[in-house]
Amino acid sequence: MAYNKINTIIDGPLLLKHAIQSHIEPQLPRNIINKLVKKRLIKTIKKAYSNVPFYKEYYDGYKIDVTNINSVNDIKNLPFLLKEHVRQNFPGKLLNIHTNLDKCYISGTTGSTGKSVNFAYSKSTFFFYLCTSLRVYTMIGYKPWYKMAFIKYTPLPSLNIPCLPLFKTYHIPSIAPIDKQMELLREYRPDLLAGYASIIYEMAHNLTENDRKIIRPKIISLNSELSTIEEREFISQAFSCPVYDEYSTEETWMIASQCKYKNYHIFLDNVYVEFLDDEGKDVGEGEIGEIVLTTLRSPVMPFIRYKIGDIGSYTLEECPCGRHFPVLKSFEGRADDIFILPNGKKISSLKLLNTFTKFIKSDPKLMNEFKFVQEKFDYAVIYLIPGEEYSEERFKELINQLNIILEKIVKIEIKIVDSINNQGKIKRKAIESLVSKRNK
Ligand SMILES: [Zn+2]
Repeated sequence: MAYNKINTIIDGPLLLKHAIQSHIEPQLPRNIINKLVKKRLIKTIKKAYSNVPFYKEYYDGYKIDVTNINSVNDIKNLPFLLKEHVRQNFPGKLLNIHTNLDKCYISGTTGSTGKSVNFAYSKSTFFFYLCTSLRVYTMIGYKPWYKMAFIKYTPLPSLNIPCLPLFKTYHIPSIAPIDKQMELLREYRPDLLAGYASIIYEMAHNLTENDRKIIRPKIISLNSELSTIEEREFISQAFSCPVYDEYSTEETWMIASQCKYKNYHIFLDNVYVEFLDDEGKDVGEGEIGEIVLTTLRSPVMPFIRYKIGDIGSYTLEECPCGRHFPVLKSFEGRADDIFILPNGKKISSLKLLNTFTKFIKSDPKLMNEFKFVQEKFDYAVIYLIPGEEYSEERFKELINQLNIILEKIVKIEIKIVDSINNQGKIKRKAIESLVSKRNK
């Protein structure tokens, strides 16, 4: 992510307003939360139709009369926004006509296909986003006097007030080598460590006995990547502190985040989330569906019914933490990393990843690195950098388990390699399906 360099003078009153509001809203009764969502959703759509040329053309093409949209259910007739639309129409038609792009933040994501998607948001939206990020941490016990260290590509603007020991933030560059990152960690000794799951996992592996005495975070918050429960447990044990996770995308910012009870509360004040089946109909509570998002706070460039490519389910059960935002019950990972079997069945990448993790946990030196790629419907390859204690026998057991998951109809081959090409991407991607990408 790269921000264009606009003046980031913190607007105190606006920030305070967002900070208070974003901490009160999750505690409101559900009927009031739903009313707020409805109001913001309808406003977003009507404003987008009047001010964003893309939506006017797109909806006119479907003969949609947006004046008829007066309830949450009325949005079901709106066609989806796809990444391709964003790529083709940014900035041009996708920007609010009243926007001065020079005064906006411009950001981008490479996404899983390697093709970039760029987008913009206003300063006011950015301040709101910062407050939702703050809420991610307050939900897990962060206090303003904690020292925070973020592992990010670019530093976040600091909220630190000079002379006051509050909101102290430090930046650990995500692309720095691990030795440098460990050095910074020893220097900053943060109370809260936040960043990419794979990097913090690597840090956990690199902690020495001495490090454990001086690096003592109170909480760790993982972001940006899918992590397994086993990985989070490993990190938690290594750093002797609780580890939490959040779910966000570059385009929409925070979607859901764990509270102390490890429930992922959906940030309904930021995004409206739909869970849909293959025909675009709502799935029921607890059923797996494709996640479709509508941003509620970014009038400069709203994303309406945006197909982000993830799948999951929700529950309306109350959480003991007292927040009334619904809970993302299962998060099955990127839809485009799902293996599609020759019989059409879909296998979640998390299930495959967990199988590898299980073996790594019992045999830590079995493999150094791997990447499991479904290249054809009936053919997948494990690219493998073997570990010091690689054993063909043990690997056969792993493949047997993968075969069971893949219903024995996908041929699995192992290719021993010297390095695994991640195409310079920061995000790790251990499970990839070229088949589901081609079918997108
Ligand atoms: Zn909760």
